[in-house]
Amino acid sequence: MEYFQLIQTKIEPLLPVDASVASAWTLPSLIIHSFSPTVILTYAFLCMSVFILLALEFVNWGTMKIGDVKGKTFPIQAAHLDSLRPIDIFFITFNKLSIPPFFLTYTLFSSTLPSTSSTLLSPLYQLPLLFLLYDLFYSLFHRTLHLQSIYHLIHKHHHTQKSPTRGNLDAVNVHPIEFWSGEWLHLGVVYLLSLTSIECSAITSLTFLTFGGVLASLNHTRYDLCIYIFAIKVYDPKYHDLHHRVPRRNYGQYLMIWDYALGTAKEWSKGKE
Ligand SMILES: [Zn+2]
Ligand SMILES: [Zn+2]
Repeated sequence: MEYFQLIQTKIEPLLPVDASVASAWTLPSLIIHSFSPTVILTYAFLCMSVFILLALEFVNWGTMKIGDVKGKTFPIQAAHLDSLRPIDIFFITFNKLSIPPFFLTYTLFSSTLPSTSSTLLSPLYQLPLLFLLYDLFYSLFHRTLHLQSIYHLIHKHHHTQKSPTRGNLDAVNVHPIEFWSGEWLHLGVVYLLSLTSIECSAITSLTFLTFGGVLASLNHTRYDLCIYIFAIKVYDPKYHDLHHRVPRRNYGQYLMIWDYALGTAKEWSKGKE
């Protein structure tokens, strides 16, 4: 107790406030008021960033564990990038560090959306729409990245890996322009849906980003984890695996519906391309 009082008497003279008000302050508020708002916000941002990155690593670990438990895998059919090069490590690190500002913006925007209490069932119809909308824009964007004139500038880097195995590490091993575009597109489609009468609830928005992250990571593993809705296959990591070695097929990130609509879909088959 004496220790806290000692600190308080040391700090009080430094504070630009009335002594009568300061005497009612607690130690945490004294510490907070000792720093400028900029310093406090920077510190809070750094703490949240560390928390977000740790949470992300936990989700990635969980994603790989899901695959391990299921145990069903599909074979490598093209050259594997065994060791990450300095440029791979640079892009992976850079992209991961850019996640916290995106995530905080996304979460802040989601907090402005309708709350979950009145719209508990909203994800059931809003989530499929978000994935459909996302993949429509993503497929077109991805297709554009494969144009011969710009392919070598941005997207070629991601295709250095012909047989992804590392999950999130292989997923984020892309040029930062491509990574940012893919990340912010999630916010873009949430915003678009929120403008319609269908709306987008906060829980849908956050579930969309979480599922999206997990599915994008699974796309870069050998886990044969397909998702069926009413006996129709809507997600299969093998589609993206095939895209890594047959670049003009399967442009979709999560769904294949737009590839089927545009004639670029190709089913994965063992030993064939
Ligand atoms: Zn990929
Ligand atoms: Zn590609």
